[in-house]
Amino acid sequence: MGQEDVYEKVARLIENSKKTVVLTGAGISTESGIPDFRSPGTGLWEKMDPMEALSTRVLYNDPKKFYDNGFKILLSMKDAKPNKAHYILAQLEKDGFISSVITQNIDNLHQKAGSKKVYEVHGQTRTGSCTNCGTVVPIDLLEVKVSNGEIPPKCDKCNGILRPDVVMFGDQMPEDFEKAWHEAENSDLMIVIGSSLTVSPVNFLPGLSKHLVIINKSETPEDRRADAIIRESAGEALSKIVRYLKAAQQG
Ligand code: NAD
Repeated sequence: MGQEDVYEKVARLIENSKKTVVLTGAGISTESGIPDFRSPGTGLWEKMDPMEALSTRVLYNDPKKFYDNGFKILLSMKDAKPNKAHYILAQLEKDGFISSVITQNIDNLHQKAGSKKVYEVHGQTRTGSCTNCGTVVPIDLLEVKVSNGEIPPKCDKCNGILRPDVVMFGDQMPEDFEKAWHEAENSDLMIVIGSSLTVSPVNFLPGLSKHLVIINKSETPEDRRADAIIRESAGEALSKIVRYLKAAQQG
């Protein structure tokens, strides 16, 4: 099958599916200027080891190192803007073609683009919380405290340690992951966009859906069981698929 036909095939899969969920990874946000982990040349992996910089081991045992490195990566996403792919997904939800987005991303770009049902399985960078009393605070408060030399930042209520609400390597998965699992299990179709599918346990989700489409610039371990694979920029691929969906709606 030529690459031209694959967009039409994906459009048909979407039309014939009772429940379609989308699983996104860092690749959907590269065109918003946020580097992913594994793209050759630009991925963060080439500059540092994210499993170290964003680990509970460093967060709790060497907070200075965490706030000098990992925390800066988290803050760097704050002003990013959604790109074409995020906006198309928000519109597809509005039009009833997809039921939710499960995202590994912590950049808030799906919500900024207007997506309503978003499961953030690796947390988010809007808030932090106290590891002692659970009080939730805006991430900006952690930023202010850290820039004033308060490392680790402390809770104003109980003096416990504050931390970002991002799932670090070594953390348990949040409640959103259980919900995402349920979504995936009950779906007819999952569309993976911009993920290397190498981070566990999220990479188990595609195996739960009846049908699978992968839109990713490079190979993934799930390619062999996919009904369709598109190796292209997320925005480009989604715009072409949407054209076929529109044609079907009008015709
Ligand atoms: P990854 O870096 O392991 O893989 C990204 C994949 O996206 C790569 O296979 C790459 O080929 C592909 N890609 C890059 N640009 C693309 C584009 N424009 N269109 C289509 N495909 C593209 O990312 P991952 O699988 O999400 O795993 C990394 C972990 O790090 C995740 O937990 C993720 O949340 C986190 N992370 C998040 C952000 C973010 O929030 N934006 C950024 C970096 C890392």
